[in-house]
Amino acid sequence: MGLLALGTALDWPETKKRAPQVREWGIKQLLEIWNKAKGKERDAMLWGDEVEYLVVTYADDDPKVLLSLRQAEILEALAEDKELKKKGGCVPGLQDGQSPAPLADSSHPIPVFHPEFGRFMLEATPGKPWGIGFRELLEVEPDMKLRRKIAKEHMLSTEYPITLTTFPRIGSPGQFTDPYYPTSGSRLRSQFVPDEIANPHIRFPTLAANIRSRRGRKVRVNVPVFHDKDTPNPWKDPTVNYDLHDWPEDDDVRNGAAPDDFIHMDAMAFGMGSCCLQITFQAKNIIEGRQLYDQLSPLGPIMLALTAATPVYKGFLANTDVRWNQISRAVDCRTPEELGEKPLTNGARRIPKSRYASNSTYISTDPRLRKEYLDPDLVVDLDIKQQLLDGGMDDRLATHFAHLFIRDPIVVFEEDLQELDLNKTDHFENIQSTNWQHMRFKPPPADNSIGWRVEFRSMEIQITDFENAAFSVFMVLVTRAILSFDLNFYIPIKKVDENMERAHAVDSVLKEKFYFRRNPFPSRPSRANTVVGDDSRPGSAYPSRPPTPGGPVEDEYGEMTINDIINGSPNGDFPGLIPIVESYLDSVNVDVSTRCQLATYLDLIGKRARGDLDTTARWIRNFVDTHPRYKHDSVVDEELNHDLIGAVIAIGERESTGQGFAGLDIHGLERLLNGFRGGCGGDDRTPNGTGTGNGNGS
Ligand code: ADP
Ligand code: MG
Ligand code: MG
Ligand code: MG
Ligand code: MG
Ligand code: MG
Repeated sequence: MGLLALGTALDWPETKKRAPQVREWGIKQLLEIWNKAKGKERDAMLWGDEVEYLVVTYADDDPKVLLSLRQAEILEALAEDKELKKKGGCVPGLQDGQSPAPLADSSHPIPVFHPEFGRFMLEATPGKPWGIGFRELLEVEPDMKLRRKIAKEHMLSTEYPITLTTFPRIGSPGQFTDPYYPTSGSRLRSQFVPDEIANPHIRFPTLAANIRSRRGRKVRVNVPVFHDKDTPNPWKDPTVNYDLHDWPEDDDVRNGAAPDDFIHMDAMAFGMGSCCLQITFQAKNIIEGRQLYDQLSPLGPIMLALTAATPVYKGFLANTDVRWNQISRAVDCRTPEELGEKPLTNGARRIPKSRYASNSTYISTDPRLRKEYLDPDLVVDLDIKQQLLDGGMDDRLATHFAHLFIRDPIVVFEEDLQELDLNKTDHFENIQSTNWQHMRFKPPPADNSIGWRVEFRSMEIQITDFENAAFSVFMVLVTRAILSFDLNFYIPIKKVDENMERAHAVDSVLKEKFYFRRNPFPSRPSRANTVVGDDSRPGSAYPSRPPTPGGPVEDEYGEMTINDIINGSPNGDFPGLIPIVESYLDSVNVDVSTRCQLATYLDLIGKRARGDLDTTARWIRNFVDTHPRYKHDSVVDEELNHDLIGAVIAIGERESTGQGFAGLDIHGLERLLNGFRGGCGGDDRTPNGTGTGNGNGS
């Protein structure tokens, strides 16, 4: 996230009037950077991860666990730490692409911390992007551990950074933030969370307020409750207050906003207060960037299901496993007309998806991209598309941006509308960065100092840095295999949407099937063409692609389990992403010890996909289910929440400090994290000292 400029944020009616101007200037800025950067070549294959944390206030002997609202103070403490500064640490909120000076005595500068929407959140990224070397992949996990350590060192002794996607009791009646604030503030108008839960920088409360105003009512984040054996049926959310009369929006629940059998939430914080794991890749040029965007798209829902970590909301077990749709609804600014609830009037159009949603476009110039894969109903702004075409952009990319530009800007600062500055990309970024799709195609910044990047955004954050490093590194290896073997994962984009829905089901990792392309290889694996070492770059060899096949598109893909997709299907329908990554690793020069460490990451992922290990969501469900306080009524009460958070803190700390889990009595831990690092001579990760993982990358 860039430095946040101060200014006068416009309210919604004023923003709406200025929206066409923002779009027009945004498109001019886009064309400017596109013309500057479209011929950019040979950018380095850099990548970077983003880890998001919740900050909780926790004590062993106090049943109340609270969200700490001290984000600003913690970031300030980090920024003012002279020791950190000496080591290349930097103020939070570097501009896109800026990096602190490298450390003299180490290969990598210390991590960077950023603010986030929730005032109880932090984001941390590496001090500079990671390079291409395989050994560098092994620096990711220590770097993530260092981030956790540094963050903790700049907090109060009772505060902890934890990597859960959501705080299980956010929005529960009573106190859940520290300090306490009453709910029902003028910005969010939520009956469950106070305005003070959002980062106080004017951008964030304005974002929430203008989304609500544009919609004409509060956001409606309803997630189905998990029906346990003693859960009332039908279940009525007991926390909903039908008698509030502070704001017009208090009528929402009287008008049916909180149906039976749904946990009802009514504010942006319930979604944008979630933590995720994002990975950004720099491509060597725009063509490769467009290729990566397309090929990583079908993996979005697969990795969402595999990283599932979100089974509890507002103190109740939910009947979904992931955060995605809740965030989507939490920022859904569509009007009743756009939603199809009212007849269209003056120029409005139906919009099928929230601005936070799975992506709807493929953008590559790859001849294997058949028109049947595209969304025939894609909504685009035709005038904007024409402007982009007139500016020289090709149809496919123009379509992509004309699709993103159907949205209004939500936060506009008066000061930015005085004069168009083509040496900036602020208006373009305004629209681009509030299109929260599961892939993002990031053009270079205005100064053209870095390359075309693609961001993979669907993964849920995991409890430990080992897991977060494993998923990050896995995505890097998959990306390199895509480029090296010229893999083809194309399926119709609408099937990707459907997969995204399926990923929400409880234990979708084991119980659902997902549409996936059967044969990912261009013809046969072309690994003989690639010569890749630690310092050369994979993907330079582009085997010639077969002509676009003409058979029925439906024959190209099938429904597969996550295990089929990750480990390979028994009937040979799909080779499996891990076997593909392994044959990629076989084709390049990786030393034995690096290969062994990488195998521990692949092992975790393979086991989660097979069900030999639990997802975070399943682990949390079992923790709740077996807790003595749980009454099988779907309620995660304060004390249960306390023990869950206590377990999460303990696991995260033990793991990040390399202490091992011996003596830690946490239910199901062996099903979450058993059996790593055996065979590499690494640290002992074995819970309770049992288990004998063989570290074999299956
Ligand atoms: P955003 O929040 O907009 O997604 P961030 O600025 O937080 O973006 O950066 C996302 C990630 O991209 C970080 O891990 C950062 O290290 C990484 N990154 C920065 N520059 C590059 C680059 N040139 N190539 C690849 N990754 C980069
Ligand atoms: Mg970021
Ligand atoms: Mg960001
Ligand atoms: Mg973030
Ligand atoms: Mg977030
Ligand atoms: Mg990001």
